Amino acid sequence: MSQFSEHNFKGEKALVRVDFNVPLNDKYQITDDTRMSAAVPTIQKIIKDGGSVILMSHFGRPKDGPSEKYSLKHLVVHLRRLLNGETVLFANDCIGEEATKMCADLQPGEVLLLENLRFYKEEEKGDETFAEKLSKLGDVYVNDAFGTAHRAHASTAVIAKFFPAEKRMFGLLMEGEVKSAEKVLHNSEKPFTAIIGGAKVSDKIMILENLLNKATDIIIGGGMAYTFLKAMGGKIGNSLCEEDRLGTADEILKKASAKGVCIHLPPDSIIADKFEATADTSDAPSNNIPDGWMGLDIGPNACDQFCNVIKRSKTILWNGPMGVFEMEKFRHGTKAIAKAVAEATDSGAFSLVGGGDSVAAVNQFGYADKVSYVSTGGGAMLEYFEGKELPGIAAIKQ
Ligand code: AMP
Repeated sequence: MSQFSEHNFKGEKALVRVDFNVPLNDKYQITDDTRMSAAVPTIQKIIKDGGSVILMSHFGRPKDGPSEKYSLKHLVVHLRRLLNGETVLFANDCIGEEATKMCADLQPGEVLLLENLRFYKEEEKGDETFAEKLSKLGDVYVNDAFGTAHRAHASTAVIAKFFPAEKRMFGLLMEGEVKSAEKVLHNSEKPFTAIIGGAKVSDKIMILENLLNKATDIIIGGGMAYTFLKAMGGKIGNSLCEEDRLGTADEILKKASAKGVCIHLPPDSIIADKFEATADTSDAPSNNIPDGWMGLDIGPNACDQFCNVIKRSKTILWNGPMGVFEMEKFRHGTKAIAKAVAEATDSGAFSLVGGGDSVAAVNQFGYADKVSYVSTGGGAMLEYFEGKELPGIAAIKQ
């Protein structure tokens, strides 16, 4: 592989895989452009060098070929604005005669956005012929789509083999993601605290198992904590519980103890009489929640205890909220954790926040620029920390 920042794109056509899968409202207006703006530095560097940029992306989940709803043409005007008025052209297809001609005619400094890759079912199937056709459109392949790095699709992984090692590389966004994930998983300074929250134990078993070999402390919060508390003999009322995972929770606790990893569960909880923003609330020990009540946030003692662990950490990984932070009454725990992670970062810790809801939380509470790295790839990040090799990364490095 080649290093993006050291590569000179002068006179080259760079085929850049981006993740422009942004949310649109019913008027085709972009409601959150984070994924688009994240790719801007990569595009700008290529233009500045005197190269041209061919952007390819998936968009939504179209079922039967082309459709208005899933057309990337709705993004062109906004992309032009993000690139300060640079020339942004659009090809109505991602392969074929028109796309080939437009790519061939593209001038240095120009950007061409190809139509949605997923209008071809070959994309998700990782079809070699389709990948080869795409590869012919550019001189150099840049993967800047960390959000799809866990998929072995034609444009994210298979395509890489059609470029020699010195003509395939990560873009700036992907490089940042890979570097920070590698630092946490393979090069962490200890103490290393993983904060894992969210609704379901079943979604987080593999990441917990893998982190047992890496972290010194694991904080478990959110709805998933109650399955652990019940496995330990606690009374959890109506709190979220995956009965079929009680055995798994017990095993994780035993493994942690054997490996000397400290698992922190919330000693107390904010409880509610129903799952509603207007519910009556109280607090209770997390292992003694009255019948008819449910734990919807970590309590004040849990906040203090968790924050102390976080503040003495040198490496922090955070995935998943501590409570139902979407509702005002149950967001205090997640907010307190966000603040503690920001403070630890200020004192020199390296902190990586990833996964849809924890990213939403640090953004909402204003801490996104006070942590070391906010990952853009929910599923990809989770799979990376589960210890899996991501096809999008492997294909560039091979
Ligand atoms: P996940 O996608 O698994 O990371 O879960 C995120 C969701 O978990 C959020 O929508 C939270 O509202 C929800 N959640 C967090 N804590 C709890 C809890 N104690 N009970 C029920 N849901 C929760």
